Amino acid sequence: MTCFDCPRFCQVDRTKRRGFCGAKDKIVVAKVIENFKWEEPCISTEKGTLAIFFAGCNLRCTYCQNKKISHKCEGKEYSPEEFRIYLSSFDYSKYSALEFITPTHFSSLLCKVFEGFSVNSKVVWNSGGYENSQMIEKISSFVDVFLPDFKYAKASLQKLSSASNYFEVALQAIKTMIKHKPNLWQNGQLIQGVLVRHLVLPGQLDNSFQVLDAIKKQLGSPLISLMSQFVPIGKDFDRKILPIEYKIVLSYAKKIGLTNGYFQDMTSANDKFIPKF
Ligand code: SF4
Repeated sequence: MTCFDCPRFCQVDRTKRRGFCGAKDKIVVAKVIENFKWEEPCISTEKGTLAIFFAGCNLRCTYCQNKKISHKCEGKEYSPEEFRIYLSSFDYSKYSALEFITPTHFSSLLCKVFEGFSVNSKVVWNSGGYENSQMIEKISSFVDVFLPDFKYAKASLQKLSSASNYFEVALQAIKTMIKHKPNLWQNGQLIQGVLVRHLVLPGQLDNSFQVLDAIKKQLGSPLISLMSQFVPIGKDFDRKILPIEYKIVLSYAKKIGLTNGYFQDMTSANDKFIPKF
């Protein structure tokens, strides 16, 4: 059966072959970090999440900070039944949420995990934004908070993630997330909803302006997180963003009325914030 998990529609039977993401028919976990506190405060809180980093990815961002695990699909393998047992082994009172990081290419398998099963925790879906809207509708049955990237609006940048239709696809996917998960708050925590992230890239202010315009005009001013933490990895960028670049993008967001969200200080652009894999 052709893989339907993401918009690449690779036409592969994953019981026999790997698609673009590198995944076969098992869930592959590269790393688990307990009490992970590097997300926005409304997600991490004081406790931190139970962060499950999946191996492989349906994007191939040349500057990916998690390249060691995202550009190959290797790690501990689980069938849906085994993964359900694994998830049942945690005491969720110790975490702010169960967080799935880069889970898109395991969407169908995770749907199977959550058939007739739930965890005593909020579930966060932290993804690159390149998702199949029909699949978003399905996973909305067990996901509480979507944390998608919205990386590019500028056509010439989409090749950095080997996704020539990234903008339209991500826009539609995030619209679907917002439709299914209106924001609900409790004691400063986002218990249900969507937080859209945008990473400012060096020398690419026009891209950020276009992304912010699309967020404002087409997504109805959702909760956003404007990130400054880019660290140069790979061949396409040779520097961090400048403080003035972040300031300009931040001013633009405010000017067009996008003030609902999170804004970083420049100390986040440091490789000590990249988990060791
Ligand atoms: S999830 Fe993987 S195999 Fe399936 S369509 Fe996407 S890239 Fe291809």
